[in-house]
Amino acid sequence: MKRITLAFLSLLVAAAPAFAKVQVVSSLQDFSSIAQSVGGDRVETFALAKGYQDPHFVDAKPSFILKLSRADLLIVAGLELEIGYLPPLIDQARNDKIKPGSRGYLDASIGCDILQRPTTQVTRAMGDVHPYGNPHYWTDPNNGRVIAKSIAAKLSEIDPSGRTTYEKNLAAFEARLAEKDKEWLGKMAPYAGTKIVTFHDSWPNFAKHFKLEVAGHVEPKPGIPPSPSHTLEIINLIQAQKIPVILVEPYFDTKTPNSIAAKTGAAVVMFYPSVGGKSEIKDYFALFDYDIDAFVNSMKGKK
Ligand SMILES: [Zn+2]
Repeated sequence: MKRITLAFLSLLVAAAPAFAKVQVVSSLQDFSSIAQSVGGDRVETFALAKGYQDPHFVDAKPSFILKLSRADLLIVAGLELEIGYLPPLIDQARNDKIKPGSRGYLDASIGCDILQRPTTQVTRAMGDVHPYGNPHYWTDPNNGRVIAKSIAAKLSEIDPSGRTTYEKNLAAFEARLAEKDKEWLGKMAPYAGTKIVTFHDSWPNFAKHFKLEVAGHVEPKPGIPPSPSHTLEIINLIQAQKIPVILVEPYFDTKTPNSIAAKTGAAVVMFYPSVGGKSEIKDYFALFDYDIDAFVNSMKGKK
């Protein structure tokens, strides 16, 4: 009997995790990917918005409340990217650890290079969903590095016994990012100064880092669908400035971009702003690998 009990107990011990993993919920798969790189086996990550969804407009699911109620850390893009769905979920989750201002709430924009910060007061009543600056800043690898550092510091604060692991993983992430960025910059170098049109204003940070020039958007304003008069302006702009590509995020209707392309000869390129936008975009590094290859391929024969 005693033997059986002991065997049973040892089975239980083997089955139980050595420690409870830090539960990390992010608004975006990009932050989950970086948190997973930095946190390794000490963390379990979950992203609310999937990479193929518009991060401004996410359908809140009841399962999100459960995830948030059990979270130790919540990572958000901030700058009101999540304003349309996240605040009521945080309220309903009743988890003091992750409320704004608490230790387990991380606004990933802090310390990042944020573009288009307004100089005058802007309100959402004007229809612009980027009232505090551009919230798509993770598309610059330099901001990815800042985000990784913020996540490592936050994880060390929440789970101090993992500090050495987080610091080691952060160093590995930074080293790989530096190496990959050299490769990406090399691939993009021949296209420095190329003008582009994008559907939504998702790419100012990407364009700055990789030296592209965003000349216009298919949307008249971020969050406002295309209008006939604005579409005509974009057609004229593409023709006048000989713009070779229109980049389209995967969650927009390609009807307008395709009609602009038919009239101008510009190529429509699906461009993914987030990890998980396509099954092969499995992590933060694959995001740049994929988009940069798509861009370079679209430019072949256009120079
Ligand atoms: Zn946006």
